[in-house]
Amino acid sequence: MALTGLDIYKLLPKTNCGKCGSPTCLAFAMRLAQKKAALEECPDVSEEAKAILVAAAEPPIRTVILGEDENKVELGGETVLFRHDKTFYHPCGLGVILSDNLSPEKLGEELGKFNRLEMERVGQRVRLEFIYLRNESGNKDKFVPAIEEIQKQTKAVLILESKNLEILEEGLKTVKDNRILISETNENNYEKMVELAKKYNTGLIVETVDLEKASHLTSKIVALGVRDLVLRLGNTNLAQSLSELTQIRRLALKKNFRPLGYPVLVFADGRSVAEAMERKQLTNQGDDFETILQAGTYISKYASIIIFPKIEPWQFLPLSALRQNIYTDPQKPVAVEAKLYSIGGEAGNKSPLLVTTNFSLTYFSVEPEIVNSKVASWLLVVDADGLSVMTAWAAEKFTPEKIVEAIKKFEIETKVAHRKIVIPGYVAVMSGKLADLSGWEVLVGPREAAGIPKYLKSTWNA
Ligand code: SF4
Repeated sequence: MALTGLDIYKLLPKTNCGKCGSPTCLAFAMRLAQKKAALEECPDVSEEAKAILVAAAEPPIRTVILGEDENKVELGGETVLFRHDKTFYHPCGLGVILSDNLSPEKLGEELGKFNRLEMERVGQRVRLEFIYLRNESGNKDKFVPAIEEIQKQTKAVLILESKNLEILEEGLKTVKDNRILISETNENNYEKMVELAKKYNTGLIVETVDLEKASHLTSKIVALGVRDLVLRLGNTNLAQSLSELTQIRRLALKKNFRPLGYPVLVFADGRSVAEAMERKQLTNQGDDFETILQAGTYISKYASIIIFPKIEPWQFLPLSALRQNIYTDPQKPVAVEAKLYSIGGEAGNKSPLLVTTNFSLTYFSVEPEIVNSKVASWLLVVDADGLSVMTAWAAEKFTPEKIVEAIKKFEIETKVAHRKIVIPGYVAVMSGKLADLSGWEVLVGPREAAGIPKYLKSTWNA
């Protein structure tokens, strides 16, 4: 919770020496509270006060950064209970659990499946981020090659689990230079797990069968110097898991209870690791639809990592779309770049020119339909603050003036020999004014994007 200027003032030396550039300690405290000054500017602040102020400046839920470059994943760091209060910042990661007992062929097959679950949707790359590798064999000669193979074949961030910490360390020696998680830390092994985490710069998964005990455990781990923690829920049903996810989030945000202020990992079907593995082996056992329902609930509230016993494309698609929707900023419509696009091949000077707004969903509805039409076309995307056609028109963000401005800005007259522009059917009402302002012939296109192929093939070509 942010401290007020007065709270900060109580922690300062109160000598009004002016070395910080502020005339008084109170003035400096006010500047600190407004984030217009840095604590280091006061040379006389005590170590104790420093620790309190630094801790107070941290977000209530720690941001844990894993992986690097193209596989970098950020977890936690959330500041609100409800998306509409502000936004959720860091989408929960999705992953699968694998055993090191798999034969090399079967492991290769699983990694191939993992890689195939990557696609582009509304201009964003969506994929699975995590592989949870469990040392079921109890043998380093199976664990280590499996880690090497996963790193060779995928961009996954690893979560390594072994009951035998010597084998876990052997595994860690083969991990490339990026941040991963190791599992699973409990009352009995936390000191050794902390040593491993420090030595290999990993984060720790912390067992959370009981929230009160877990909060004591995380405090002990933090005191030993490891702060990148992820809590793992140990419940067996959705209601219990949802209740605990909500309690953890509320305690962290509303009560500023830092011992539980960490990202949380859940298994998609609410089971323990062992049960998830057993289920994975019993192919087609259990209810795959229920797994989706549970995972959908966890995406909405409040998981940071969801691990699946197995995941098929038909499960991944709706869940990744849900994840994208939950983790977009409700105050900022998702927009594409406003410019002239050549779509469906190389558009030439006789190609049709269509116009729309830069709302991402609008663009990604229109673009594939132009491709479907097999008529190479120009698509003029007008900056309408990321609003859809009707909303932008009603808000006067998609007007004849704006379209004429875009025609000039993107020098459309040098791109097409004709002087015809196709506007969306929903804004047919602007055709007269647009024709007057631009001097172009304005054609009214279909209302829905689905009508574009027929329109281009029949009306335009005719
Ligand atoms: S340097 Fe520190 S002690 Fe001096 S006025 Fe600034 S805040 Fe106060």
